Amino acid sequence: MGANYYYPSPMAAPVVCTKCGSVDKTKSFTPGSILLEIVAWCLLIVPGVLYSFWRLSARKRVCAVCGSAELVPADSPVGRRIHSEQRTDETELSTG
Ligand SMILES: [Zn+2]
Repeated sequence: MGANYYYPSPMAAPVVCTKCGSVDKTKSFTPGSILLEIVAWCLLIVPGVLYSFWRLSARKRVCAVCGSAELVPADSPVGRRIHSEQRTDETELSTG
C-alpha cells in the first residue's frame, strides 16, 4: 500500500528524460549571462541583486544529454516505461 510515495524534494530524486530516455543524467542549467550579471552589479547594486536572484530562482535541472527540462522521476510509471524501452533498444543494437 505504499504506492503513493512522493519525493518532497524532486531535485534529489533520480529522474528520466521524457525526450531522449536518459536515466538520471542531469546538469544544473542557469539561464542568463554571467557577464550581464557582473555588468549589472558594477552599474548599480539593486539591478545586480535582482538579476542574480532571477537567475538563481530560474535555475533548473535539465538533461545532460539533450538539454531537455522534461524530466520525470525514474521510479514513476512513465520513468519505468521509458527505462524499459531504452533496454529493448539496446538489445536490438545493430552495428554496421
Ligand atoms: Zn534528454
